[in-house]
Amino acid sequence: MSRRRFLLSLAPALVAPGWAARAWAATLPRASAVPGGVARIGLGASEQPPRVHLGGDRVLVMRDGDEWVAFVGIALGAKPGSKLRLEAEQAGGAVERFEIAVAPKKYASQHLKVPPGQVDLSREHLTRYERERVHLSEVLRTFTDSAPATLAMLQPAPGERSSSFGLRRYFNGRARSPHNGMDIAASAGTPVIAANAGRVIDTGDYFFPGRTIILDHGQGLLTLYAHLEAIDAAVAQAVPAGGVIGKVGATGRSTGAHLHFSVYLNAVAVDPALFLQD
Ligand SMILES: [Zn+2]
Repeated sequence: MSRRRFLLSLAPALVAPGWAARAWAATLPRASAVPGGVARIGLGASEQPPRVHLGGDRVLVMRDGDEWVAFVGIALGAKPGSKLRLEAEQAGGAVERFEIAVAPKKYASQHLKVPPGQVDLSREHLTRYERERVHLSEVLRTFTDSAPATLAMLQPAPGERSSSFGLRRYFNGRARSPHNGMDIAASAGTPVIAANAGRVIDTGDYFFPGRTIILDHGQGLLTLYAHLEAIDAAVAQAVPAGGVIGKVGATGRSTGAHLHFSVYLNAVAVDPALFLQD
C-alpha cells in the first residue's frame, strides 16, 4: 500500500461522522469459529454485562445494539470438530452455558532446510528464551474491565500485508509454533501507530521478537508490535488510536525490516486481518 493510500485508509476513522465509523466498525472483527478466528456469541439484553469465561480466561463482552455480545478468540491449536465451552454469569448469579463448535480452516505449511546450528538454541539463549516466554505469556493474559470503544483496528504501518497468519513452519522436518501474527512490509524507520486506543502494558527487547510493545485495549483485547527499531512509548502510557508508538526495524530474529503485528483475545493470538478494513 502506498503512503498516500495508507493515509486515506486512516481517514475514515479520523474524520468520518460517528454513524459512518460505526457502520463499518460494527462489521469488525469478521467472525468465524475457526482456529485463529473470532466467534461472536449473543448473550441477551440484560441490564448489566454478563461475565464470560472460557476455561480460566475472561472473554471480551461488549454492547452491540440492544444486546451483549461475547467475542471469543479461538486458539490456532484448537481442534476442528471440538467444542469450546463458555460460561456466562449474569449479575444476579445465574449461569448460562454456550458451546462453540470449532470449524476447520486450512493454513499453509512451509518446509525449510537450515543448518542444524541455526535452529538449535545455545544453552544460554534457551534459558533467556524460556524466561521471556513465561513473562510474555503472563503479560498476554492481561484483562482489564473497561471495554474498547471499537474492535475495528487501523493498520499499524503502511505497507503490504502478508497473509501468513497461521502458517505452519517446519525446520528440517520439525514443527515450529505457527506464525501468530501478520507481517507488514515496511522499511526501517517507518513510524508504527497504535492500531486502537489503549495503554502500554509491556515494552522490551526479547530474543525472538526483538524490541516489542504490547498494548491493552480492554477486556482482553491486546496488540503486539515486534522487531521494532525504536520504542517511542513507555509502560502505563495511554495512547490514542493512530498515535505513534515506535519505528519499524529488524531487531530480534528477523529476516529483514518489517512489522510483525499480533492481536490477542482471551490470551490467544487471532488473525489480525479480521480486525482491519480491506
Ligand atoms: Zn511475523
